[in-house]
Amino acid sequence: MTNDLRAYSGRRFFLLTALPIFFTVAALCLGAYLFLQWSVRTIDSASVARQEERVAAVMGRLRTEIAHDQESVTAWDDAVVALPDPERADWVDLNLGIWLHDYFSHDASYIVAPDDEPIYAAIDGRRISPSHYELIRASAAPLVGRLRAEMKRGSPAASDTKMLSPGASDFGFDHGHPALISVKPIVSYTGKIFQTPGSEYLHIAVRRLDGDFFPRLAAINRVDDLSFSTIRPALPELAFYPILANDGTTIGYVIWRPFRPGTEVLHSIAPVIAGIFAALFSAVAGALLLWHARNRASGLQEARIHHLVHHDVLTDLPNRSEFHTRLDQVLADPTSQEGALLYLDLDHLKAFNAGRGHRAGDAVVRETGRRIAEVAANRATVCRLDGDEFGLIATGIGAAAIDALCDEILAAFRAPIALGDDPVFVGISIGVARFPEHGVESSELFRKADVALHQAKDDGRGRAATFNAALGEMLLKRAELEQDLRVALRDFSGISVHYQPIFRATDRKLVAAEALARWQHPVHGWISPARFIPIAESSNLIKRLGAHVLRVACRAAAEWQLDSIAVNVSVIQLRDPAFVATVRAALEDEGLPPERLELEITESTWVEDTGQCAANLVELREIGVCIALDDFGTGYSTFGRLQDSRGVDRIKIDQSFVKGSGEAKGDKAIVRAIVDLARAKGIRTTAEGVETPESAEFLTRIGCDELQGYLFARPMPHDEAAAMIRASAPMVIPE
Ligand code: C2E
Ligand code: MG
Ligand code: MG
Repeated sequence: MTNDLRAYSGRRFFLLTALPIFFTVAALCLGAYLFLQWSVRTIDSASVARQEERVAAVMGRLRTEIAHDQESVTAWDDAVVALPDPERADWVDLNLGIWLHDYFSHDASYIVAPDDEPIYAAIDGRRISPSHYELIRASAAPLVGRLRAEMKRGSPAASDTKMLSPGASDFGFDHGHPALISVKPIVSYTGKIFQTPGSEYLHIAVRRLDGDFFPRLAAINRVDDLSFSTIRPALPELAFYPILANDGTTIGYVIWRPFRPGTEVLHSIAPVIAGIFAALFSAVAGALLLWHARNRASGLQEARIHHLVHHDVLTDLPNRSEFHTRLDQVLADPTSQEGALLYLDLDHLKAFNAGRGHRAGDAVVRETGRRIAEVAANRATVCRLDGDEFGLIATGIGAAAIDALCDEILAAFRAPIALGDDPVFVGISIGVARFPEHGVESSELFRKADVALHQAKDDGRGRAATFNAALGEMLLKRAELEQDLRVALRDFSGISVHYQPIFRATDRKLVAAEALARWQHPVHGWISPARFIPIAESSNLIKRLGAHVLRVACRAAAEWQLDSIAVNVSVIQLRDPAFVATVRAALEDEGLPPERLELEITESTWVEDTGQCAANLVELREIGVCIALDDFGTGYSTFGRLQDSRGVDRIKIDQSFVKGSGEAKGDKAIVRAIVDLARAKGIRTTAEGVETPESAEFLTRIGCDELQGYLFARPMPHDEAAAMIRASAPMVIPE
């Protein structure tokens, strides 16, 4: 079944369907994911930008706030009065230092006198030596200078900041710490104390940027992880805002972990998205698998239907239409070498079916197909053409190899087919037409192989015949011959009976003879019975011919000193309800006891155990006529059937086995088995076609009863046979 399976290809489906669909789905998923990523990034960067703006605003506000803090003590009449008074140093410390630290968390406070020299310093709420001012001077001095100049100019405080006095602020360093530094003049709040512009005491407030400044700022402004670093952060997930001094130098960076709402959302929905993708992929994979399974099933179904359409159900061999297709292909192929069409036919299958049933017939056909295919393997395409017909297309082999193939096929059918416990001998005939020699067109080759097959059958079945020109002509003449035979049988002109003596094996005594019909055609001369008997059978002329041979043979036998005379009977005759009456009349008219008449029937006749045929056989045996099974081993008779009570009296082993019994091992074994079984059943055996002393010797040794063949005597006319019989008969001494 495999050779014509137009199998559905899973690989093709995978490459051309599954993979593109998978890639498309994957691309869509990737696209969706990238879009999501882009959205997340857009949302995140918008959010980060807003946070940067907020940090910038906070940083801006810081400057104003620190100045405001300062003004709570610098715009104060008491402070203006207390500062020049060394006695009030503690008051100054408490109100302009400690208070700012405790209340506004200022990290340091400094006060410089009108000559810009420090008179007060406090860090972390503790008064220290004013000389510490040196550690902030670099950052503070420009502010101090700028503020004094402003004061001198009499610049008003910026109105938008709601300040009471002008001020100056910048980012710088105090004691090495990055810090926001704010300078404010200590002025009279009421304006009642006169101060020379530019000669005010100045208060310097410091908020260090490292330490807890930013964490606290973060808490107030609800920003995550706000911190300060002098180094710009390298981590991409951190946001930063540079703190620039007034002269543009970078003091450090405000760093925070920005809130990224997109990423947050993405993280929270990531498992859901992953789940959706996984489900989508699973669904696509599942659908593809289902699709694949369906395709596969329908592909197999299609292949099965295709197979059934092109094959014979019984043998699983290609059928007739497939045979024609393949033959046409071979013949149309210009590269095709020589070859042959073999037409094979099972002998008498119809009769076997009628006798043994169609199941047994089917088993025979199946085994026949198997054997032919086995022999022809690698050499020819085997097909079942019809009920009992097989066809072979052999390519690339010459005439000799084709003959050898035919011989091998015929040899394969010498061994019986086992039907349960019952081996069946099956005969097969082969007709051969070679191409291109006999034709290059299929119908022509078929016709010629058919002609050759008929020839093989006419030659006695169980053989092969190859078409030749003479055969073609002969077939054309078949119709003519039938007409001529009809004419001959009117008065039996040209029809005669020859006799072939049969000898007892043990002492080679002539004990019987077989009557064989002969026809001498007025134009074509002697025509073989193998040729005219089938014509007589197909035209129903066999009844008249058979009755004539029977009567002539009975007449001759009645005169001869023989145990018996054998007469061949066709199945057509046996099916005739009047046959027994014909036999009776011949015996009575010619005066031959029924026991001395032996009717030879073919195996196919014998297996046709229903109807008239069987009834006739039973009746014939009842009146004492013996029944011999002719050509045993070429038809369908089985060992099992030999046990039948109706049975037979004699088996005539076919010449095809006998010929090989001199040397061929297989044939010897078959002949021995037939003889052994027949003896066990009390059935006598005659070997036909004994041509060599070796065969005769072997057959005698294994217990075959009688021998018939060219080795001893050929079929001969009445008078010659009579002389031979007389010569072999013991002298009858007259009394
Ligand atoms: P058969 O009944 O098997 O007859 C034996 C055939 O084998 C005869 O062929 C005979 O000449 C041939 N034969 C005998 N010994 C040898 C041998 O040693 N070598 C070879 N090669 N052949 C040998 P024949 O006479 O040509 O008859 C052929 C067949 O025609 C017969 O086979 C029989 O089936 C049929 N036939 C002949 N006469 C009649 C008849 O009157 N009625 C019917 N129904 N069939 C007949
Ligand atoms: Mg015979
Ligand atoms: Mg025979």
